[in-house]
Amino acid sequence: MINTQPSVALLPIARLRGVCKRYRMGATDVRALHQVDLDVRPGEFTVIAGPSGSGKSTLLHLMGALDRPDQGQIEVAQQNLAGMSKNELAEFRAHRIGFVFQSFNLLPVLTALENVAYPMQLGSVPPAQRRERAMALLAAVGLAGKEAHKPSELSGGQRQRVAIARALANSPELLIADEPTANLDRKTGADIIDLLRQTQRRTGASVVFSSHDPAVLEAADTRVFIVDGEIERVEHVSKQEVTA
Ligand code: ADP
Repeated sequence: MINTQPSVALLPIARLRGVCKRYRMGATDVRALHQVDLDVRPGEFTVIAGPSGSGKSTLLHLMGALDRPDQGQIEVAQQNLAGMSKNELAEFRAHRIGFVFQSFNLLPVLTALENVAYPMQLGSVPPAQRRERAMALLAAVGLAGKEAHKPSELSGGQRQRVAIARALANSPELLIADEPTANLDRKTGADIIDLLRQTQRRTGASVVFSSHDPAVLEAADTRVFIVDGEIERVEHVSKQEVTA
């Protein structure tokens, strides 16, 4: 059947305009981001690429509603983050955004299963269903059989897989991974990027990750290059039409 629907331009999952962020370090003022304009295409695998200190983490923390900009506008999933109170931001983060950190940030006293089920406690999912979903999420990241292991009983790559499963617990529209391979060896890091890529395809979520490693750029649909807190250029591999 021929699709006669007019092609609809998709709205960006994240839209940044004139975003600036500075940090005060004693007497000095560090410019982390300067006048950043960026549209992140929905349902894509996007990499924020740049050297250490270029502003990648700052950008992802702002996009993930973990911090606020000094200047500029940020919309995520068509919601203006500036208009939200602290509690609304926490709620928004818990249900709409998944975050994967470079140092995994798992709770050490909880098992893999409990770590993945933990974010679901914030919702209204009954315990049996939480457990079932956490089992399925762990299986999807290749960790079936490791449910009862504590983080200390898992390798770095396995811990990051748990962190990815946890980030997916509440089916976020946007999954953000801040240098997810920084603490892993090359091969394990490549496997984690493959897993994020597969996760993006399987869930249809938008995935944005950062890296200073040029070897991982190839996997991305869109590559955003950042230098000294400014977007240097954006390369799109896919041909999606997006409304600015
Ligand atoms: P990247 O993730 O690319 O390594 P960051 O966003 O972490 O870059 O840092 C950008 C700049 O902001 C760097 O100069 C860094 O030293 C500085 N910076 C980041 N976080 C802080 C902070 N909490 N306090 C002071 N300076 C910071």
